[in-house]
Amino acid sequence: MTSIAVRNPRTGETDYQIESADASQINAVISDARIAQRGWVAGGLEHRIATLSAWSEQLEIFGEEIVAALSVDTARHRISTEELGAVIHFIHGFCEAAPEVLATPFRKLDAHPDIVFKVTYSPYPVVGVISPWNFPLVLSFIDAIPALVAGAAVVIKPSEVTPRFIEPLRRSIEAVPALKSVINLVTGGAGTGAAIVSQSDAVVFTGSVPTGQKIAAAAAQAFVPAFLELGGKDAAVVLAGSDVARAATSILRSALYNSGQVCYAIERVYAHDSLYDSLVAELCRQAAGMRRSHAAGDGGHYGPMIFDKQVVTIDAQLADAVEKGAKIVVGGKSERINGAVWVDPTIVTDVDHTMSLMTEETFGPVVPVMRFTDEAQAEFLMNDSIFGLSGAVFGPDTHTAGDFATKMEAGGVSINDTELPRVMMFDGEKTAFKKSGMGGSRYGATSIMRYVRKRALLANEGAVPSLDKLAEVAD
Ligand code: NAD
Repeated sequence: MTSIAVRNPRTGETDYQIESADASQINAVISDARIAQRGWVAGGLEHRIATLSAWSEQLEIFGEEIVAALSVDTARHRISTEELGAVIHFIHGFCEAAPEVLATPFRKLDAHPDIVFKVTYSPYPVVGVISPWNFPLVLSFIDAIPALVAGAAVVIKPSEVTPRFIEPLRRSIEAVPALKSVINLVTGGAGTGAAIVSQSDAVVFTGSVPTGQKIAAAAAQAFVPAFLELGGKDAAVVLAGSDVARAATSILRSALYNSGQVCYAIERVYAHDSLYDSLVAELCRQAAGMRRSHAAGDGGHYGPMIFDKQVVTIDAQLADAVEKGAKIVVGGKSERINGAVWVDPTIVTDVDHTMSLMTEETFGPVVPVMRFTDEAQAEFLMNDSIFGLSGAVFGPDTHTAGDFATKMEAGGVSINDTELPRVMMFDGEKTAFKKSGMGGSRYGATSIMRYVRKRALLANEGAVPSLDKLAEVAD
């Protein structure tokens, strides 16, 4: 077994390490999970709901330890607390919705009244879950929980960049014996992830497009479904007549949340000619008031970058943009202080689509703003992207902005605000467009259905057709 060193984002020191599970260890975990899953599904939905509810209580009990570990890996306390709250919320929400989503009453076939039928659901025995570092806990469980509710066992590999929460989380799982080998957390990097993909019955992956493409290919080879939740390059379009201060606040909040290390962060802005100058001025004014957070509760707005290698991409994109004529009006390059790497809110003008800053994922608090003169041009620009995760449209009213929003090739569009899909976890569905993902919606209670196969049972309660029927169709 090889070890992976883990960096502390506030000190820059590698002060933790994990073991990397190899293919044979993953094989042992998955074999146990497959056996445990039989009891998990046979126990029935009520038992699963009771067990998961018991686990949510343990998550509260172990909450402080889990949040403390997450806070070290991600350099932020409040968002780590929110992550724990979100997982507890997912458990309650999916458990509450499951009886209706998974209900399978017998029904008569309209065209054949003697035949009654129902569809029964057979969960994939083992669902492999592979997650990234930006929201280590939430993204390890946002898909695992509906899979568990559906009756699958899960094998979860969180990112090797932020794995400290695994130990306390394991203790919370061990406190609920019925979850033994049903929720399995394993540690490791790409090789461990690849072993999970090749041995699971279904895979759900959250991460970058290049890794998603490898996983899609490996899943195709293993002939298992892969549900992929990938990167984004969300656009905000600010139409003529928009409230400029509101747009600037919403865009900056999205760009700065978690220091921009968010798949659905606004990473490019298209502003109508009539308000371009005032929007840039307002973005700069508001950005200038944002402060670094050096410790929990100090009132700062953003922490150091979690993954120091990400700043190589950010700096390279900014350098490329400047070389091609862009102007950095606020912020700029990354800064390393006592081992922590900071990227301050950065506003960039004079950008165009020849620059990687406008076409590739940045994953940092950078807001490039481009001018447009008519809506056809704005429509072209916002859709001129390989990504289609989400976006935002600002306009003089909901109707005008909403009309334009229907032209955006993205799975979730906020109107006169940003990041609104976050609040609709159980209420609606949204799918990623283009290279931002595939495999249906993780949003909406119906995402439980991703993890089941459907078996139709049909019973004939009338007479069986006579053998003479064969003669009627033979010629
Ligand atoms: P990444 O693709 O580098 O890694 C994600 C996970 O995949 C890690 O656990 C890693 O160990 C594993 N992995 C790497 N190679 C693998 C392989 N060949 N087979 C199996 N597993 C492998 O992504 P990251 O840098 O950790 O996360 C950032 C990316 O995640 C960004 O692109 C971001 O947009 C995306 N993301 C998407 C969403 C979403 O909901 N759509 C949410 C958060 C992050």
